[in-house]
Amino acid sequence: MALRHVVLLGPPGAGKGTQAKQIINELGLVHLSTGDILRDEVSRETELGKTAKGFMDRGDLVPDQLIIDMIRGRIEAADQGFLLDGFPRTTAQAEALAAFATIDVVLNIGLAREEVVRRLAGRRVCRDCGAIYNLTFNLAEGETTCAKCGGELYQRDDDKTEVIANRYDIYERSTAPLIEYYTRQGVVRTLDGAAGSENVFSEILELLSA
Ligand code: ADP
Ligand code: ADP
Ligand code: ZN
Repeated sequence: MALRHVVLLGPPGAGKGTQAKQIINELGLVHLSTGDILRDEVSRETELGKTAKGFMDRGDLVPDQLIIDMIRGRIEAADQGFLLDGFPRTTAQAEALAAFATIDVVLNIGLAREEVVRRLAGRRVCRDCGAIYNLTFNLAEGETTCAKCGGELYQRDDDKTEVIANRYDIYERSTAPLIEYYTRQGVVRTLDGAAGSENVFSEILELLSA
């Protein structure tokens, strides 16, 4: 039976969003990205968005309880299976998750700090469809519109150099311990995020259909 409760783990810039978009097309899982949900809350200026914005702009984590309350209902509603992207990010979040869902597999995408910095500085995102691009590998010089929908490409506020270093530090301190946490449960599969995205994708498909 295919694995339907999947977590994507890895530092910022590892390629979680890029892989998620392809995986859900192939496997029909619900893509639940806490970063995307939060950015939507921020742009709609909801109470949650107003609270989250300060943390996000500094590259800090939004408090656990806010995140858990935000995501829990969506996970429980995902009857056909889910792909968690950017959650859990702390041990407290993983423990809360364990109380309401089982996790079949954790895809741990690794990427070294220097490459994280390079990738995030070059990341551009479509305002309309959310497609993810990079200046260094799939955008022509000076290109400012999305090849898929014609929308405007923008740079995330937290992809500015000053914030990137803090995000990586927080990943190492708060999120990397989850690799050990899930390894003890025997569900971790590790992938090399520095490989080409097509290679990472085909490896993931193999792991998920095993
Ligand atoms: P990345 O591309 O770096 O993996 P995300 O889009 O997942 O970034 O997250 C952007 C920001 O949103 C984080 O830096 C953090 O402030 C907030 N955030 C997203 N998911 C979580 C979470 N599970 N717990 C706490 N904060 C989160
Ligand atoms: P995350 O969601 O883990 O933060 P993204 O999927 O947004 O990561 O990717 C971060 C940046 O790196 C984006 O600009 C994306 O285009 C680029 N990228 C993603 N996967 C690869 C890859 N395998 N090789 C090179 N660049 C990649
Ligand atoms: Zn687009």
